[in-house]
Amino acid sequence: MAGQNRKLAKIFSLLLLISAVAAAVVVAAAVVAAQPDELRNIRVRQGSPFKIALFADLHFGEDAWTGWGPLQDVHSINVMSSVLDHEKPDFVVYLGDVITANNIPIANASLHWDQALSPTRDRGIPWASVFGNHDDAHFDFMGTTRLQLMDHETGRNNLSLSQNGPRNLWPSVSNYVLQLSSSDNSGSPVAFLYFLDSGGGSYPEVISYAQTNWFNTTSQKINPDSRVPEIIFWHIPSIAYNSVAPSGMINKPCVGSINNEKVAPQDAEHGIMKALESRPSVQAVFVGHNHGLDWCCPHKKFWLCFARHSGYGGYGSWARGARILEITENPFSLKSWISMEDGAVHSEVVLNS
Ligand SMILES: [Zn+2]
Repeated sequence: MAGQNRKLAKIFSLLLLISAVAAAVVVAAAVVAAQPDELRNIRVRQGSPFKIALFADLHFGEDAWTGWGPLQDVHSINVMSSVLDHEKPDFVVYLGDVITANNIPIANASLHWDQALSPTRDRGIPWASVFGNHDDAHFDFMGTTRLQLMDHETGRNNLSLSQNGPRNLWPSVSNYVLQLSSSDNSGSPVAFLYFLDSGGGSYPEVISYAQTNWFNTTSQKINPDSRVPEIIFWHIPSIAYNSVAPSGMINKPCVGSINNEKVAPQDAEHGIMKALESRPSVQAVFVGHNHGLDWCCPHKKFWLCFARHSGYGGYGSWARGARILEITENPFSLKSWISMEDGAVHSEVVLNS
């Protein structure tokens, strides 16, 4: 009897040990999954190209205390709904100036941010966002920081693939990379999508040396031989956009439909363009910020593109729309066009040349 008890006690302690080891493994896995700079995946759907809609300059929350402010946000929701229903994208990028923070008199601007995300979330489409110069611009007596906005978004939305980015780059937030994976192998990248915070609002409008270093280090690590195409998103055009901007009419090789203002570039160039130019894998950069520009022009071996003003908020009354990207694998191709609120489509361009 005593022998049997000892045997049972042995089995019991063995079980305890196994469960302790299992618990440790689970904890370790959770820690790994929680790492902020982990490379997250989105996957191309079998048998169809991967489509991305860019929503730029929505400027939610303007004049929330009057009639016209909330009404224009309803109009912006209609723009996004129309584009999402016409184009049925697999992914959405919120390309900055999601809200006009300097015009929001409530403590938590996240409410307006959340409203801007709602058409995408309601349709079950995953998304990623970057900051523009208005998202944490200072209001006289309140303000929601970039970190607060991003924590609010990622903490409440399983569909959000946005990230705060490495801590050493803060207060520059929204610096991260996503892997677009092949439909038949989640481990095989079709493209890397880079998101960078081009500043503005609470600090200068610039992509810093530290961000450039982060880009260099990350791209060397995950794509050392530049074999996988890279697509770049940020809000404020770099100074290089000036050098390719069409004067007057938009003529080939540039493609677009409105060229109604001057490029309003970042304050300075701290090496990011050189870094991109050194990588044959870079296909295109997409920015917002200038509501009156929607062109793509070639620059060295890749393209510099504006999105299209999507919101009824912000300056300008040019018709609203969204730039669409279409990526195919085997062979890789990157095509883009602009899809308008009324369903019209124009300015198609092939960007992987
Ligand atoms: Zn804007």
